[in-house]
Amino acid sequence: MHELEICYICKKEITEDRANCAYCNTPYHKKELNNWIKRFKKCPRCGRELKEFVIM
Ligand SMILES: [Zn+2]
Ligand SMILES: [Zn+2]
Repeated sequence: MHELEICYICKKEITEDRANCAYCNTPYHKKELNNWIKRFKKCPRCGRELKEFVIM
């Protein structure tokens, strides 16, 4: 069964282009996580350094 997934950055449902943190597995919209990593270089939730992420 498909579970509703909420992006941790914008708090909206993710219907496509999802990316998960490789450490805490928190789901994000891929584009938003990309922009976030460019600026902060870490996961918004767990704060671990993120050079790459898991595309689901
Ligand atoms: Zn989002
Ligand atoms: Zn994380």
